[in-house]
Amino acid sequence: MNWGDTAEQAAFRRSVRRFVRDAFPASYLPEPDAENGLEPEDVGGYNWPADVRGADPTRAAGARDWAAALARRGWIAPQWPRRYGGAGLSAAKAFVLHEEVLRAGKPGVNGLGVFLLGPTLLVHGTAVQRAEHLPPTARGERVWAQGFSEPEAGSDLAGLRTRAVREGEHYVVNGQKVWTSLGQHADWLFVLVRTGADAGAPRHHGITFLLVDARSPGVTVRPLTDIRGAAPFCEIFFEDVRVPVGNRVGEEGRGWYVAMDTLSFERAGLGAGITFDRTLTGLIAHLATEHGPEQLHEEWDHGLRGEVARRYIEVQVSHHLARYTASREPTGAVPGYEASVSQLFNAELHQRLARTGRRAFGANSLLWRGDDAPMAGAFTHLSLDAVAATFMGGTSEIQRNVIATRGLGLPSA
Ligand SMILES: Cc1cc2nc3c(=O)[nH]c(=O)nc-3n(C[C@H](O)[C@H](O)[C@H](O)COP(=O)(O)OP(=O)(O)OC[C@H]3O[C@@H](n4cnc5c(N)ncnc54)[C@H](O)[C@@H]3O)c2cc1C
Repeated sequence: MNWGDTAEQAAFRRSVRRFVRDAFPASYLPEPDAENGLEPEDVGGYNWPADVRGADPTRAAGARDWAAALARRGWIAPQWPRRYGGAGLSAAKAFVLHEEVLRAGKPGVNGLGVFLLGPTLLVHGTAVQRAEHLPPTARGERVWAQGFSEPEAGSDLAGLRTRAVREGEHYVVNGQKVWTSLGQHADWLFVLVRTGADAGAPRHHGITFLLVDARSPGVTVRPLTDIRGAAPFCEIFFEDVRVPVGNRVGEEGRGWYVAMDTLSFERAGLGAGITFDRTLTGLIAHLATEHGPEQLHEEWDHGLRGEVARRYIEVQVSHHLARYTASREPTGAVPGYEASVSQLFNAELHQRLARTGRRAFGANSLLWRGDDAPMAGAFTHLSLDAVAATFMGGTSEIQRNVIATRGLGLPSA
């Protein structure tokens, strides 16, 4: 199979490079010490939702201007139809666009809205919901967060307990979500709630998918601090929150099937591979400089060279998996089990790559600030994020279950 660009894709790639060079706001600079996100689309030094909603006016203006420049071309959500603010690009061209932005070290905009919620609404939403939510999302003006997990419902998502009771033209929602990435910056949330199930019915029946305005009375968002002292996610409490029935996506009680498609869109992302490529390329360049080897300990002579080569091969595999996943899907289709293959491979590669960095830099790999921090702490961040990697888009065990049952057709129990 030839993974090279077609002539048209190569020309498009060049035009994207020119655009990024010319249009990225000069004042929107990377800040290595600023709060990084954990999403696969994040690039070092930027966290677009935090930047655009943050207290630093220069950074907020830079993030807004970058979003506006992309939006003028429909490039925040390039695969969406033009009438919703997208550019109607093919999956292959959208892949090239996304790849070039990330390779240039510039942040993607509105990732959860663009990669998760938008495609879900294009498949399951009503015309009214699409018209209301997609255009502002494609302009970077409506930021989303995903409220699926709960304290007792992660892998076992069907065990969720947040309840919605119908009262006339509203649902009244009570309960709690947790680990909601970027929830403190979100304008809107897409959440799973329990609306009921017949006695004896499977637990994933009776779950409903709702869009909730994060500013509704009764919504409380509390950021959670992680090992780095950053707050990449939140817990969210719902107390008698009134949600119009018109904000339900899909049928009442059938939100599970909507959510499974959302998760497939999430797992098909290409971001992680690009981040790994950039970090590994940085490591190789660093090791080749005269300063690099000084920070190496004797590991170099004990197989590290071969380990770096293995990581290089795996990073190429990651990239090809993402490109293959994109190539399998005509615009708007739901990715299949290939998305879980990609997610699983990337999450475990993340951990191997972090280990290689620790081996390469020894004790210095623990530093993330100051002159002695190798590669400005890039591997320190990678290591600290690595634990979450095999959890955040669904755990490795769950991905293996998906691959086994949906991919290989093995029985589920
Ligand atoms: C950084 C980060 C960001 C996140 N962002 C979001 C977000 O934005 N929105 C959101 O809704 N959630 C989010 N999550 C939550 C994430 O989806 C859950 O952590 C994940 O689904 C696992 O659930 P859990 O944490 O309850 O672990 P558990 O489900 O309790 O898993 C514990 C262990 O048991 C294993 N296990 C569980 N069930 C099985 C099984 N059937 N077979 C084999 N092994 C099994 C798991 O693989 C795991 O190793 C985020 C998590 C992290 C770490």
